[in-house]
Amino acid sequence: MSFPILHKRVILITGLGLLILQLSGIGSDIESHSEDAKHTINLENLADNQNPVKEALENSELVADTSSTAIQVKSISTTDKVGAGDSLAKIFTRNGYSAKDLHQISATKLGKQLKNIFPGNSITFESTNGQLTKFTYHSSRLESLEFIREDTDFSAAKNIAHPDRVISYKHATIDDSLFLSSQRAGLPDKLTMRLAQIFQWDIDFVLDIRPGDQFFVLYEELYLDGEYIGTGEILAADFINQQNTYSAVTFTNTTGNTDFYTPKGISMRKAFLRAPVEFSRISSSFNLRRRHPLHKTIRPHRGIDYAAPTGTPILAAGDGRIKTASRTNSNGRYIVIQHGEQFVTKYLHLSKFGKNIKSGRKVRQGQIIGYVGSTGWATGPHLHYEFLVNGTHKNPRTVKLPKAEPVAKRELATFRAATRQYALLLNSYKDQITLVTAQ
Ligand SMILES: [Zn+2]
Repeated sequence: MSFPILHKRVILITGLGLLILQLSGIGSDIESHSEDAKHTINLENLADNQNPVKEALENSELVADTSSTAIQVKSISTTDKVGAGDSLAKIFTRNGYSAKDLHQISATKLGKQLKNIFPGNSITFESTNGQLTKFTYHSSRLESLEFIREDTDFSAAKNIAHPDRVISYKHATIDDSLFLSSQRAGLPDKLTMRLAQIFQWDIDFVLDIRPGDQFFVLYEELYLDGEYIGTGEILAADFINQQNTYSAVTFTNTTGNTDFYTPKGISMRKAFLRAPVEFSRISSSFNLRRRHPLHKTIRPHRGIDYAAPTGTPILAAGDGRIKTASRTNSNGRYIVIQHGEQFVTKYLHLSKFGKNIKSGRKVRQGQIIGYVGSTGWATGPHLHYEFLVNGTHKNPRTVKLPKAEPVAKRELATFRAATRQYALLLNSYKDQITLVTAQ
């Protein structure tokens, strides 16, 4: 089977700037860097074989000071990288800066965040006439901590760079697996996984995919200073599965929740995941007249046992609030989540709880709440999962799952305005493809 011509187009998103900002979720402003126009290197204080000189020459932008001021200011900027087993003390010494400078920087309000520095991250020292004026730790591509000398002390600030978000587009026809076809179309695996997640309620990606199925996806590419640094979010996608077209668009509501909806504003999601864990097999089904494997008596099995290796993440089946996160002899470590008034889900025999999981905490669907284990009365690692409707146990495999909340009526106009542009873009790409393939 021949592979269709792929179109990769990039469009600047100026017209969608407001929307993108809303999606990005990054609130703080960019702090502008006031660059000193002139940098010179103070060679007198540095021996020939000292690293900083080499570093400075390699990494720094050095401009000879041609100003006519009487006192010549010598500024130097050097960049270093955190190595394996490195400490800030070592890095300061290596670059010729004092323990006193480091002490003062560590004592600032952001100093604590320097306790964990990671190999590969870069560090910049700026100094004037041998005195450290600015220390920068680049904690990620987008985030840095800056410490600037103010008289006798240092001030601290966190800088968050905002990448340019550019809308990109991919189309693929599936001729073997979803992942292989996506890779050939140039879509990163991360986004393919996301795509499968968005459509998981309508399409079973293990059983339903057929050769000839297609998808069209509009997503963000992130650029920092013109350099591609990765992909952002999927904005809209159409998936054609066995001649049925499913469409999804993203929308962030006024409370800040981002979700995927049909173009009419109906949620793509059901309110609950069918299985809150990736399982290898069902080791025990829902059965109200089961003989208990340990006690050899008739004991109802009010849930499903999903066998999975110890440590497999367990996800909150739906949005809700943790009612209990505790331990008993029989349940082992277990979690109970209340979802609105009607629904309760239970998760038993966990090896450990997820980060920040305790009673009273709100959780969102798909959030990791714990990990598979065999604590309590369990014969091997598995998740015992229960689903209750109005206090009655239901079979989690067959219970009819309600749809997640649609876009609120009062937000429908905003939703339409925000998502129309995505639909238009996606359709214009699809038209182009139809034209090309028709030739
Ligand atoms: Zn069980």
